[in-house]
Amino acid sequence: MQVSHILREKGREIVGIEGDLSMGEASRLLAARRIGAVIVRDPGGALTGILSERDVVRAVAAEGAGALDRPVHAYMTRDVATCTEADTVDELMEMMTRRRFRHVPVVDGAKQLVGIVSIGDVVKTRIEETVREAATLRDYISAAG
Ligand code: AMP
Repeated sequence: MQVSHILREKGREIVGIEGDLSMGEASRLLAARRIGAVIVRDPGGALTGILSERDVVRAVAAEGAGALDRPVHAYMTRDVATCTEADTVDELMEMMTRRRFRHVPVVDGAKQLVGIVSIGDVVKTRIEETVREAATLRDYISAAG
């Protein structure tokens, strides 16, 4: 199963912000959209970072509520790991587990963003795949018996 399958199921919407937005506004956006991370882009649309709810928690834990008035670019992760639609869901799972993050933006050959995949999307896909495999095996066994 490839990443393209996940994007077909969930769509290609990318929630993005610019790095000068405040951490407070970014937090409100995460809460309103019920998501765990946003992509940070420059005014030209290029990927400059990613901010997840974990970054918000770390910022507030380290600096108190004042962190919420500071800009996202002070806390976001700049070195963003990406994948392509041709990568497999297993490869993505391995990357998320090894590098300990739960969101991976998807880019095309020209490095343009085409979607984002979360650990929730990956788990949902794996469960669907496992349920399908079990049904196929059950059919096979009952046909053989
Ligand atoms: P998460 O588990 O996605 O909430 O993120 C945990 C930490 O990893 C946060 O500091 C994020 O900014 C960072 N992070 C999340 N996704 C990525 C990614 N694809 N590449 C690099 N860092 C990431």
